[in-house]
Amino acid sequence: MTWTARPVPWRYVASWQCTACGLCCRTYNVVLNYGEWLNIVRKFGVEYTSCDLSRLYLRRKPNGACVFLYRFGNKWLCGLQDMKPRACKLWPFKIYTKPRFGRAREAFYEYAGHRLFVYVDPNCLGIRWGEPTNHFASNVLPEFVEIWMGRHVGQRFSTGKVRLPLVAQV
Ligand code: SF4
Ligand code: SF4
Repeated sequence: MTWTARPVPWRYVASWQCTACGLCCRTYNVVLNYGEWLNIVRKFGVEYTSCDLSRLYLRRKPNGACVFLYRFGNKWLCGLQDMKPRACKLWPFKIYTKPRFGRAREAFYEYAGHRLFVYVDPNCLGIRWGEPTNHFASNVLPEFVEIWMGRHVGQRFSTGKVRLPLVAQV
């Protein structure tokens, strides 16, 4: 499945909380940087990754799901936990230094002296639409921006609530 909806400025988001529906992990190819790829290869083996002529990826199962996605009760969880790639940590937010998807006023976000433009992929089921709540604007969004800036490696507000040990199934 491929999603094509246009990203929406953060000003239309009241709040966000991952519901562990697993849709994103069953839908997208996750691009890895070289350091992420190396860490995963060292810990799990090269068979947990894939590549094309220009990029490195997490491997997907035959059904299209990420190789590290697993089911726990009625939730879908990430087996990579603290090794989660940056692309996964940032999902569903998209952060730029230019208004890439229009509506610059609504996407504008000033953080620590940086002029940024923040959008969200509307396909994520964890989005509640409306006027941004104080929690979203003061806690959730800054954590995503810090991850994007490379300043914040831990996740408190930018991930789901359930965390379990490392698991991977090829
Ligand atoms: S980030 Fe969104 S789409 Fe992905 S599992 Fe969480 S709620 Fe579902
Ligand atoms: S690494 Fe985790 S968060 Fe990223 S796609 Fe795989 S299961 Fe989902």
